[in-house]
Amino acid sequence: MKQFDCKMTRYPQPVLGKKARAIEVIDESIRALAERMKDLMVEHKGVGFAGPQAGVDLRIFVVSADGTKENAKVYINPTIQLSGGLAENEEGCLSLPGLWGKIRRYKKCTVTATDLEGRQFTETGEGLMARAFQHEYDHLEGIMIKDRLSTAGKLRARKRLAELEAEAAADGD
Ligand SMILES: [Zn+2]
Repeated sequence: MKQFDCKMTRYPQPVLGKKARAIEVIDESIRALAERMKDLMVEHKGVGFAGPQAGVDLRIFVVSADGTKENAKVYINPTIQLSGGLAENEEGCLSLPGLWGKIRRYKKCTVTATDLEGRQFTETGEGLMARAFQHEYDHLEGIMIKDRLSTAGKLRARKRLAELEAEAAADGD
């Protein structure tokens, strides 16, 4: 069986900045990947986790409203529809540790995706769920919260981004 080399991936790893590829076949390797992503999400105390954050450039994310593995749901090749107007809220990202900022998101988000059994489903989230869907979907497009900050927010984020870049350089990756 093909196995993905999954590991917690942080800025500035290139996989986080590019558009992820569609999943063509949902097999054991994809089920193992989803399982590993749920574990990484729980381990790092997140409520969502996307393929590129595991270092894998595939269109898959998991979201759990309460951050538990039991309630983590898998979304493969998702598409999203936005509605309900915009709201601003503080957001962080496991791949940008130590960086927080106010991000504008739509209040409502409908996701159509495929589950691990290959069935298509549609789900509408509001508030925090809508925010989580948009955040994770962004990861599949190579977009992170640093890209969505206001001009002032981007200026404030500069120092932390430089620190993360220096850490990665020191680790040799
Ligand atoms: Zn994130």
